[in-house]
Amino acid sequence: MVNDMTIIDIINKKRKKEILTKEEIRYAVNGYVDGSIKDYQMSSLLMAIVLNGMNIDETINLTDVMLNSGDRMDLSSINGIKVDKHSTGGVGDKTTMVLAPLVASVGVKVAKMSGRGLGHTGGTIDKLESIKNFNVNLTEEAFKKQVNDIGLSIASQTGNLVPADKKIYALRDVTGTVSSIPLIASSIMSKKIASGADKIVLDVKVGNGALMENFEDAKLLAETMIEIGKKYDKKVVCLITNMDEPLGCAIGNGLEVIESIECLKDNAVNDLKELVLSLGSYMVNLALNIDIDKARQMLLENLSNGKAYEKFKDLVKAQGGDINSIAIAPKVFSIKAPKTGYINKINALELGNLAKQIGAGRSYKEEKINLGVGFYLSKKVGDHVKESEELMKVYLDDKDIEINSILKCFTIEDKLELLEPLIYEIID
Ligand code: URA
Repeated sequence: MVNDMTIIDIINKKRKKEILTKEEIRYAVNGYVDGSIKDYQMSSLLMAIVLNGMNIDETINLTDVMLNSGDRMDLSSINGIKVDKHSTGGVGDKTTMVLAPLVASVGVKVAKMSGRGLGHTGGTIDKLESIKNFNVNLTEEAFKKQVNDIGLSIASQTGNLVPADKKIYALRDVTGTVSSIPLIASSIMSKKIASGADKIVLDVKVGNGALMENFEDAKLLAETMIEIGKKYDKKVVCLITNMDEPLGCAIGNGLEVIESIECLKDNAVNDLKELVLSLGSYMVNLALNIDIDKARQMLLENLSNGKAYEKFKDLVKAQGGDINSIAIAPKVFSIKAPKTGYINKINALELGNLAKQIGAGRSYKEEKINLGVGFYLSKKVGDHVKESEELMKVYLDDKDIEINSILKCFTIEDKLELLEPLIYEIID
């Protein structure tokens, strides 16, 4: 009986590894959204879910309740098939800022809702805010009009789109309840379905800097999201990708925008470019029904002929930003290699946590982040380095950092280890 339910009973039920009914899930989620269930009660339930999991039916029910906590976007006024992309989050993951304008430049309509940082991972919305005056809060009408006008918009979840996720996501960020397959799958899929895309490409990251640390969990997360997609008649393609080292070179909001611009100008030759091309080929394939190899060719062409960067400039202009004013911290220093050898590991999780410590991420819900601080790698895994050569640059503002804590993130050895692939598996 709904009326007899209490949040304590629901928490206890999940604590005892029992299966929650849809009514119980609805009671907890809606109660948290309307304020009758408090932060400490929701945190406790979330931790019970992290520890004891949810089966696929509970996960689908949680997604449905979250989805119905607010409005759904109707993108029918935008012509063509709308393909959305989402990443489960990583360190230095600035993919959306390159991918969205790139695929828009070949004619894919991109209506992209993005989020803020979560745990040690960054978020596109925080990153874009490091461009002076860039407006991430568009009304639904403005958001759609911009997609019709220039082919893309990137905005924060609008007012009433999945308010349950907005509130729960911020709470998970600061209560150690981020890494959970049902919580991640329902968070991502409720937003993707609510934001009205016809088809969805998901970058499921695995490795030490990702929310999923082993391949089996990443695959289960991917399969869970594909299963949820089927319930809503949405085609979902998942790329399971490596997040053992940071993606690209920059970690930190403003620095990541600068690296994205370099990639859009076709000045990147690293994992970032490769990942963007792989995800982008699937987006173009799904939206325009173009064969994957041909799609990749079109994307490569628009990186080299400047059209992708032009599209990014259109985006920044349309959302009021000043591309010539990107937040960068005032103090810069170099970290030098303590010895000669091959870089066999760069600990993404630790670097993500250190970036958070110097101000690039949040430790509590309302914390203001410092958009200019962060790191810029001069070397990547597989590179050779000489003693005293630069490993990376550190950008600091009002917080300090111990050089030793940074050096511990690099494993430098005489022999080069076998390199891991960037893309482990593609599931659709
Ligand atoms: N991205 C999301 O949108 N939600 C999660 O829970 C994790 C990554």
